[in-house]
Amino acid sequence: MYDVVIAGAGPVGLLLACELGIAGCDVLVLEQDDAGTPWRAMPLGMRGLSPASVEVFHRRGMLPALLQASGVEDYGDFDADLQEAPAPRSVAHFAGMMLDPADIDTGALPLRLPSPVLEGVMTSLEAVESVLAEQAAKSGVTIRRGERVTALRQDSDSVTVRAGDHEYQGRWLVGCDGGRSTVRTLADFEFTGTEPQFTGYTMLASLADPEKLQPGFTLTPTGMYLQMPTPGHIGMLDCDGGAFDRTQKPTVEHLQDVLRRVSGTDVTLTDVELVSTFTDRARQTTSYRQGRVLLAGDAAHIHSPLGAQGLNTGIGDAVNLGWKLAATAQGYAPQGLLDTYTQERHPVGAQILEWTRAQSAVMRPDPHSQAVQALVRDLLATRDGTTYVYNRTSGSSQRYNLGSTHPLVGRNAPDFHFTDGSRLSDYMHKGHGVAIDFTADRRLADAISGYEDLVRYLPTAARNELDCAALLIRPDGVIAWADGPDPDLTAFAHAADRWFGTTD
Ligand SMILES: Cc1cc2nc3c(=O)[nH]c(=O)nc-3n(C[C@H](O)[C@H](O)[C@H](O)COP(=O)(O)OP(=O)(O)OC[C@H]3O[C@@H](n4cnc5c(N)ncnc54)[C@H](O)[C@@H]3O)c2cc1C
Repeated sequence: MYDVVIAGAGPVGLLLACELGIAGCDVLVLEQDDAGTPWRAMPLGMRGLSPASVEVFHRRGMLPALLQASGVEDYGDFDADLQEAPAPRSVAHFAGMMLDPADIDTGALPLRLPSPVLEGVMTSLEAVESVLAEQAAKSGVTIRRGERVTALRQDSDSVTVRAGDHEYQGRWLVGCDGGRSTVRTLADFEFTGTEPQFTGYTMLASLADPEKLQPGFTLTPTGMYLQMPTPGHIGMLDCDGGAFDRTQKPTVEHLQDVLRRVSGTDVTLTDVELVSTFTDRARQTTSYRQGRVLLAGDAAHIHSPLGAQGLNTGIGDAVNLGWKLAATAQGYAPQGLLDTYTQERHPVGAQILEWTRAQSAVMRPDPHSQAVQALVRDLLATRDGTTYVYNRTSGSSQRYNLGSTHPLVGRNAPDFHFTDGSRLSDYMHKGHGVAIDFTADRRLADAISGYEDLVRYLPTAARNELDCAALLIRPDGVIAWADGPDPDLTAFAHAADRWFGTTD
C-alpha cells in the first residue's frame, strides 16, 4: 500500500508529490494524459508565478532549474550586501488596468529583505511540470501516465482507486486533478459558488491586421483583450453573462465577432489554429478533506484567470499540505495537524475567489460597473493603490491565523541572510522546519530536543533580525513562533510541540 496516491500530475500534484517524497513517503501519482499538449507549452501554457511561488522553488533548491526551463536569463542579480530590497521590476494588472512598478512603496511590504527571490517568473505549465517531475523522480515518487482515475472507495484505513484496468491502494488520496476534478465528484465534496459573468477565450490565430490591436492588456467599455508578444496569441473576455455554449468549438466567425466587439476595432481573423474557452465561474469546496480524501489546487477552487492566481494558490496548497500529510501518513503528526490544512488554506482560496469576482464586477459594460471602474482606476493610479494590489498578488500579504498576536507569526519567513554567508533557504532543501536562535546562546536547543529529525537548529547571527531573538519556521516556510529580545522558552517549546510533536 502507498502512503499517498495523488490523482493528477499537473503542477500541484507534482509539487505535492515532491514534498511528500522528500519527507520519505511512498507516493504514487496517476495522470490521465500520456504526453504533453500544446496547452501546457509556450505560448498557450504561459503562466505567471508570483514571488511567493518562486520562493517555494528556491527553498527546495529548484530555482536554477525553474529559471532554465522557463528560458529566464535576467531574473535579477540581487546583491547580498544590499541593506534594502530593491523594488519589483514588474507588477500585475487589476481587471486589465496595468500598474506601474515604480509606484510600489516597498517600505509598506511586510518582511521584505534583500533576497534572491524578489520577482515573479513568467513560465509555462510544461516548464514547471518538467522541473517538478524530475525532482519527484529523484525523491522516489512513482508516476504512472495514461491512467485516469475513474472510481474510488475509502474505509477507515485506506483508499482504493481504480485507474484503467488497475486498482491502487493508499492510506490517503489527494485529488489534484484540476477544475473538473473526478476525485471531487467521486468523494462527494460540496462545491459551491457563483455563476459566470463572462466567457473568456485564449487562442493562437492569424490576423490580417494585428497592428489594429494594442499590445498587452487592454480594458475596453465592452470587455478586455490581450495581445501577447508571440504573434497571434490573443486572449479575450466577453461580458456575455457566460452565455456562450462551451460544449461547441467556437468558429472563426464567432471569434472575430467577439474580438471586434471587445476591441472596438474592425480587426480581421484569417485563421485559428488553437482555441480554448474559460469563464469566471467561481466555486470552492466547503472543506478540503473528506475522510481519507483531500483536494488541492483547481480541484478545490476554480475562478477566472484574472490576476494570475490559480496556479499560485495551488502551489500554496501543495506546500501547506505536503509536510502535514507526510507526518500524518507516517504516524508522527501531532493531533489535529492535518485539519489545519483546510483551516489555513480555505480562507486563502475564498479570498482569491473574491479577488477575481471584484475584477469581473468592474469590467462589466453596464453604467454602474463603469462608474466603479473609473473610481478603481483613480485609486490604482496612487502609490497606496498600486502597493495594495502588489501586496495581494505577490503573496506577501498572506498571513495565517495561528493564534498569535506577534506580527511575524503566520507570515512567510523572508530568506534571512546569516553572517556566515548562508541563507535560511540553504537549510530548507530537504523540507525540514528551522529553529533560528539569533541569540546564539543555544538556549533553544534543549527546547526542541527530540525533534532533531524534523527541525534544524541554527544558532547564528543574522544580518537583519527583524527585531527577533528567536523564530520557529515550519517546513512550508511559515513562521510558527517568534519572540525577542528575551525569548520565552516555555512558549517556544509549546509551539514546537504543536507543530512537530507526536500524537502520543
Ligand atoms: C488562460 C489561463 C491563464 C492562466 N494564467 C495563470 C497565471 O498566469 N498564473 C496562475 O497562477 N494561474 C494561471 N492560470 C490558472 C492555472 O493554470 C491553474 O490554476 C493551474 O494549472 C492548476 O493546477 P492544478 O495542478 O491544480 O490543475 P491542472 O493544471 O488542471 O492539472 C490537473 C492534472 O490532472 C490530470 N487529471 C485530470 N483528471 C484526472 C483523472 N481523473 N485522473 C488522473 N489525472 C487526471 C490532468 O490531465 C492534469 O494533468 C491560468 C488559467 C488559464 C485558463
